[in-house]
Amino acid sequence: MKAAAFFGKKDIQIVEVNKPEVESDGVLIKMKACGICGSDLHVYTSDLLTEDSTKIIDNYRIIGHEFTGEIVEVGEEVKEFKAGDGVTSIHNKGGMAEYIEVHGARLQNLFKIPEGVSFETAATLEPFCNPTHSFHLREPKDNETVAIFGAGIIGLGYLQIVKTHTKAKTIIVDVSPLRLEMAKKCGADVIINAREEDPLKKIKKITGDYYVRYQKKTAGCCDIAIDCAGIPLTFQQCLEVLNPDNGTAIIAAIYEDEVSIDPNMIIFKYMSILGSMGYFKSEAKEALALIASGKVDRNMLITHKLPLKKAGEGFTIQGNTNESVKVMLIND
Ligand SMILES: [Zn+2]
Repeated sequence: MKAAAFFGKKDIQIVEVNKPEVESDGVLIKMKACGICGSDLHVYTSDLLTEDSTKIIDNYRIIGHEFTGEIVEVGEEVKEFKAGDGVTSIHNKGGMAEYIEVHGARLQNLFKIPEGVSFETAATLEPFCNPTHSFHLREPKDNETVAIFGAGIIGLGYLQIVKTHTKAKTIIVDVSPLRLEMAKKCGADVIINAREEDPLKKIKKITGDYYVRYQKKTAGCCDIAIDCAGIPLTFQQCLEVLNPDNGTAIIAAIYEDEVSIDPNMIIFKYMSILGSMGYFKSEAKEALALIASGKVDRNMLITHKLPLKKAGEGFTIQGNTNESVKVMLIND
């Protein structure tokens, strides 16, 4: 079977590997759609997270964990799935291949795709689980203001969840006109293109510009600021736009560079900083139910669909934030 293998920085190639055999406690899935994740991009561009994000098949490192497919074979011990079931997967790896074998405890990471949800839309589940977790870490109240840095699939997903569950005011910052346009469609109250205007100035103008005890730096008045961009500047901006009393910064991105911060901002603003990585299984079920409810449009976020054999091209497009939100590899 064909699979997309990581050979080194910016080097993805289609290789021929053995089609996996189904185990007695496993299933064989014919892949239908597999999204390129932000974490896959870290592998692709910087060889970061490579071990955790790939599955070794025939000595190749196969990328991909945001996949859906149809079960084509079922081991005799498996009771919960049957051939023909459409499934979406979390945590399982090796998704950028024509077939994926999942067995044992890992079957718990497969969910049947609800009726009416396409394979492509269902493949946006995994990056919807992370923002579901971020949302529950510190749920915004209706009268609060939330600043979101980064309008990629995670930032937009977080925005969709906040908009579905609360009346909180949302401000989203990015440098990509395409992604900001998408944010508007997802219901963002304010969009800021950081290439065109200074997000700190703009946010302080909207929320008010406040004195911070013992400090020269002023504060915005956001109650929650979430970094989904993962660059040092957006981390610093998150801290600065928070209100002078008890704001919460949620760090939901992975950084390739170290960040220098002003720790006085943390202490004098009585700030909380929460790390948001991963999610609980209950949150994955919740995210899938929200997709199935039709209250959020996840399909809109898929900007490109390419055949699996064009995986290399897919990574190039996914890396260009001006061009894409979510690139999906398709296997028909
Ligand atoms: Zn992912």
